[in-house]
Amino acid sequence: MAKRLDGQMLAALYETSLRASVAQHLATAGSPPGLAVVRVGDDPASGVYVRKKAQACGRVGIKSQIIHHPATASQQEVLESIRQLNANPSCDGILLQLPIPATLDARQLLLAVDPDKDVDGLHPLNLGRLVRGEPGLRSCTPAGVMALLAHGGIALEGIRALVIGRSILVGQPMGIMLQQANATVTMAHSRTRNLSDHCRQAELLVAAAGQPGLVGADWVRPGTVVVDVGIHRVPPQRQGTRGRLCGDVRFAAVEPLASHITPVPGGVGPMTVAMLLCNTVQAWQQRCGSGVRTALVPLPR
Ligand code: NAP
Repeated sequence: MAKRLDGQMLAALYETSLRASVAQHLATAGSPPGLAVVRVGDDPASGVYVRKKAQACGRVGIKSQIIHHPATASQQEVLESIRQLNANPSCDGILLQLPIPATLDARQLLLAVDPDKDVDGLHPLNLGRLVRGEPGLRSCTPAGVMALLAHGGIALEGIRALVIGRSILVGQPMGIMLQQANATVTMAHSRTRNLSDHCRQAELLVAAAGQPGLVGADWVRPGTVVVDVGIHRVPPQRQGTRGRLCGDVRFAAVEPLASHITPVPGGVGPMTVAMLLCNTVQAWQQRCGSGVRTALVPLPR
């Protein structure tokens, strides 16, 4: 039976470490770290994520604000919000909550975020720093996966890793981070032929395809480390019951085979939020001159 890579527990350790770090630097800084979340429209899942991020900020001493535009907001209006936040000295981190309405150009909005406040690590400058292996703000979800693997004691050097998904948000930076940890990385996507064969060869499998239950037991060889990034809401089966969350991996079938596995919920999700907090505190420390540009706040032990 696989060991669970517990993101809930590790995220709590990160929060303890960050809370101490904020308290330690507060007097020198003069003001707490500030995170602004820009939300456009009323996507219900985004509403839940934004609330969770705000609550997590509160727990570590980050001052958060939500700038909520209606779905009808123009590109110019959202751009103006971002520009004001760029110029606001008490705002250390800016996050554009995705997805945004299709009427808006997400690429242009992400480009407008000051790279030093880009706590989602999605600005081309920060993505470029990642590719070059230079310090900078890193994409939260793959950084969270790397932290989970490190804390789980998974040796990545020379390991055959398969990443399913090649989005800018998850798959691409995930592949680069694994490669930089000296894994031998294969990237799979919707046009990959014989995906099941690739999966069966992998010693580390990161599923980020956004396809519920894509990876079953017959795709996983015994002893594989399985990381499930996918998150999907399964509607209630019967009236009066509650819906549940699931991932891209059929957890019950794969757990007996894998050496390590992340649950959904409680795996990658909480770590994404923890890395957002790390990035915000890092940007704040940078602004106050009390921090070094490290990729990650040191792992709590
Ligand atoms: P995305 O932008 O839709 O990208 C999905 C990627 O998977 C694409 O590269 C796509 O290939 C590939 N793909 C889709 N179907 C596939 C299939 N059947 N076989 C192989 N590859 C396939 O999604 P995303 O933003 O990367 O997110 C992926 C999943 O992670 C979603 O479920 C999302 O909700 C979840 N997520 C979770 C967290 C968290 O904190 N837990 C954070 C972010 C995202 P093409 O490039 O060829 O289209």
